Amino acid sequence: MSVGKSIGKSARNAAESAAGTSAGPPVDAPAPGRIVIENCAIATVDARDTEHAFGHIVIAGNRIESVGAGAAPAGLEDVVRRIDGTGHLVTPGLVNTHHHFYQWITRGLAQECNLFDWLVTLYPTWAKIDDEMCYAAAQGSAAALLRSGCTTSTDHAYVFPKDGGDILGAEIRALAELGMRFQPTRGSMDLGRSQGGLPPDACVEDTDAALAATAEAIDTWHDASFDSMVRITAAPCSPFSVTPQLLGGAAELARAKGVRLHTHGSETVEEEAFCHEKFGMGPTDYLESVGWLGEDVWMAHCVHMNDSDITKFAATGTGVAHCPSSNARLAAGIARVPEMVAAGVPVGLGVDGTASNESGELGTELRNALLIARLRGGPAAMTARQSLRLGTMGGAKVLGREREIGSLEPGKLADLAMWRVDGVLHSGIVDPVAALVLGAAAPLTLLLVNGREVVEQGHLSRVDEEEIARNVAHAAARLRAE
Ligand SMILES: [Zn+2]
Repeated sequence: MSVGKSIGKSARNAAESAAGTSAGPPVDAPAPGRIVIENCAIATVDARDTEHAFGHIVIAGNRIESVGAGAAPAGLEDVVRRIDGTGHLVTPGLVNTHHHFYQWITRGLAQECNLFDWLVTLYPTWAKIDDEMCYAAAQGSAAALLRSGCTTSTDHAYVFPKDGGDILGAEIRALAELGMRFQPTRGSMDLGRSQGGLPPDACVEDTDAALAATAEAIDTWHDASFDSMVRITAAPCSPFSVTPQLLGGAAELARAKGVRLHTHGSETVEEEAFCHEKFGMGPTDYLESVGWLGEDVWMAHCVHMNDSDITKFAATGTGVAHCPSSNARLAAGIARVPEMVAAGVPVGLGVDGTASNESGELGTELRNALLIARLRGGPAAMTARQSLRLGTMGGAKVLGREREIGSLEPGKLADLAMWRVDGVLHSGIVDPVAALVLGAAAPLTLLLVNGREVVEQGHLSRVDEEEIARNVAHAAARLRAE
C-alpha cells in the first residue's frame, strides 16, 4: 500500500501546506507480522452476537485472521506481539457517525441555549476559523475519540470562511498523524440570513462554489479501497442553512462520484416549524423531495420523526446518526431509536460537535444511548448489547463500511478496543458487556486501528498529548481574540 493511497490521494502535499509545517503525515503501512491477544472476553458483534468468555484474536497485518474460544492456534509464525488479555473485554473499535471537529475550540459557550439560539450565538465566532485552528481542533477531537475506544470517525465540516485556508486538508493531516480511520465531509452552507436562512451571510458560500469545492475534495482525497483510511462525503449542513439547489446539486454530484451524503435532519421542533413554513412539509418529506433519501444517505439526530418518516427511512435504507448527549445538552428531545431499529433503519451513534457535547467521548455514548432510550421507552427499550451494536456495526453500516469494519470477524480490518474490566471500577461485575456499557468509563488498555497501536494504557501512542493540549489552548485563545 502506498503512502498516498493509505491516507488519501494527495495527502502529503495538501497536508504539508495545511498546517504551516513541512512534516508530512506518518507512513500508514499496516504493521508487519502477527499480533496475538489471548485470555480475554470477546464480544464480536457479528450477525449472531457471538461472544467468548475466554478467547483469542489473531491479527495479521491490518486484517483480523482468526477469532475464537480458548487459546490461539499453535505454531503461528511471525508473531511480533503476544498480549495476555486476562481481565479484559475486546470489542470492535467504536464508529462515530456525527461530529464537528472545529467546535473543539468553542466548548463551554452558550451553555443554556436551545439549538437555534446556540447556533445564532456561535456562528459569528465560527466564521473566523482557519486551517491552523482546525488542525488543533481535529487533534483534540480525535484524541478524545481514540481514548474512548473509537477507531473510525466522520467529521461534518461545513464552515469554510473565504480566507480560512485548507481546513479539510488540515483535519486529514491531524487524523493521519494520530492514526485514526477517517470519513470527513466537505459540508457547506449557502442560505444566509438575508435569504431567510439562519446563519449570518459571512458564514455562507456561493452555491456553485460550494459544489465545486466538494467535487475538488472528492477528487483530491477520496479513497474507495477496502483498507481506506480516508473517504469523503458530500454534506450540505441542514434544511435551514442551505438552499434546495445545493441539496439537489450535492446529491447529483455525490452519486456521479460514488460517495455518500450526510446532513442534519429532524433535530428540533424549531427546524420542523421552519420546514413547514418555508416548504409546506416536514423535514423528511422535504429532504425526500430533493433526492435525499437512500442507502447512500445518513442524517444526524432524527429526533422528531413520525411513523411515516421512520417507514420512509426504513424503505430507502437511509441511515441515522443518534447523538444522545448532544440532544440532551440542547434539550432537543429523545430520538425514537428502538422503533427505528425495529423498522430496519440503520442507526449508529454520534458524539456531535463538542460545543454541544463537551466530553467528546464516544465510549460513554453507549451508556447514554441506553439510558435515554429507557427514559422514553421503558426498561426493555434497549439492551447493553443493542447499544454496543449501535456503536460498532450500526455505525459501520451508516458509513457504508459494514464489510470492512464494525465487527470482529476473519477478513475484516483490525480495528479493535481492549477494555480493562477487572480493575477497581469494574471487578466483580458478572457480565463484561454490562461493565462496559452500564458501568463507569472502562480504562482502555489497547486500541488498534488498521492493525497498528494508537492507544496504549489509556494514552495516545503516536502524538504527544501535552502538545495537543497546548495547540488547542493556543488555537482557542487565538479564535477568541479574532
Ligand atoms: Zn451536528
